[in-house]
Amino acid sequence: MQREVRPFPRRLIEGYHAFLGGRLAREQDRYRELAESGQSPEVMVIGCCDSRVSPEVIFDARPGELFVVRNVANIVPPYQPDGHAHGVSAALEFGVAALKVKHIVVLGHAHCGGVKAFAEKAAPLSPGDFIGNWMRLMAPAAEKAGSADALPWADYLTRLEQANVASSLDNLMTFPRLRQLIEGGEIAIHGAYFGVASGQLFVREEPAGAFVQVAASDHARLFARPGA
Ligand SMILES: [Zn+2]
Repeated sequence: MQREVRPFPRRLIEGYHAFLGGRLAREQDRYRELAESGQSPEVMVIGCCDSRVSPEVIFDARPGELFVVRNVANIVPPYQPDGHAHGVSAALEFGVAALKVKHIVVLGHAHCGGVKAFAEKAAPLSPGDFIGNWMRLMAPAAEKAGSADALPWADYLTRLEQANVASSLDNLMTFPRLRQLIEGGEIAIHGAYFGVASGQLFVREEPAGAFVQVAASDHARLFARPGA
């Protein structure tokens, strides 16, 4: 097999230089301490691969604070002990059993390409490919979201994105050990939703399921548009 050798991306080298002079310079002690004592993050985040929705950036997290797993459309697949390789389930198991996280946050977002592709039945790849199989996991969310008929399309997509967060929360409850810990109050699970264009963050209120904006007055004060 021939593989063309190309230079490591320049942007990453530049970014690493900035890290050396900035974050590493500030946090070197913390990195050393974390290397010796190991990580013990209290929060696990399950987010989307989308490059605009980095949990560490949105929550201003320091090294060692967030245990993050990202996949297309922030989906938690249901518990399926079938002997196949399950990346999200393995991360969940590690977060829960080894790291003993206290919170699991499913972070959905606006303008999610995965959700949109599902809603529009777009076929970037044939249904036999990985993404088609993966997106089929969104079917219960689509059922929760109901009909798109009476809604503007953008509103329907928001509804589907948020239903998809709820569906992932439901699927967390299908993992027997995790369910016990949640019911015993040792782990709390949360849904959240990030508005990419606005930078607004919404948290799902239980049990009603409404997504309520966090720090709404600060956001409004800091980012009010004149005339809006
Ligand atoms: Zn997404």
